[in-house]
Amino acid sequence: MRITWLGHAAFHIQAAGQDILIDPFWTGNPKYPQGYEDRLTKVDTIVLTHGHEDHLGDTVRLAKKFGATVVAQYEICMFVNGQGVERLEPMNTGGCIKREGVRYCMVPAFHSSAVIRDGTPVTMGDPAGFVIEAEGTAVYHAGDTCVFSDMALIQRIYRPKVGLIPVGDRFTMGPETAALACNEFLDLEVIVPIHWGTFDLLHGDPHEFARRVRRGRVEILEPGQSLEV
Ligand SMILES: [Zn+2]
Repeated sequence: MRITWLGHAAFHIQAAGQDILIDPFWTGNPKYPQGYEDRLTKVDTIVLTHGHEDHLGDTVRLAKKFGATVVAQYEICMFVNGQGVERLEPMNTGGCIKREGVRYCMVPAFHSSAVIRDGTPVTMGDPAGFVIEAEGTAVYHAGDTCVFSDMALIQRIYRPKVGLIPVGDRFTMGPETAALACNEFLDLEVIVPIHWGTFDLLHGDPHEFARRVRRGRVEILEPGQSLEV
């Protein structure tokens, strides 16, 4: 499995012959590695953790361009369907689906999920995390969330080996609580800090996070950098 960080919470995962994008916030993301899209020959699936613009990002455009299927909570699927995306896998918290040798399980996250239209929030369902498993390796993308003790249940049930964990603070866990999540509740071999450094508002320092983690190996990636697991 190859995991490439595209800045913020955005990833490209390649496994079982599938090209999977998570939270493809590319346009307007100062950490997106410019030109990365030109290297893609296909996109099979786009996974969305929640409906905020910094996660929904370029989903509608990319889904249409590549004929990709959107995997997300029901409300988000209906929202992108209204914008012309036809291939959808609606699901909800606690559920799993399997597509082309890859298993997608939606797990809880504590956050909000709405888009603002004409000054009014439009609900995008509940926020989520995902465990994506292929070829015997499971990856936990925590979405945007605080720490919660049921992360231990996520670890117990889905046995993720890799964690993509927000550390930027303000809107999600910061270094201290993200390290607590890894040390107390999760049991990850490899941990990639995400949702940091994109904007000045996200002041959580991934190096401070790495210093605090005692369980698992922290890999601080550069945008565009890949990890083989
Ligand atoms: Zn976010």
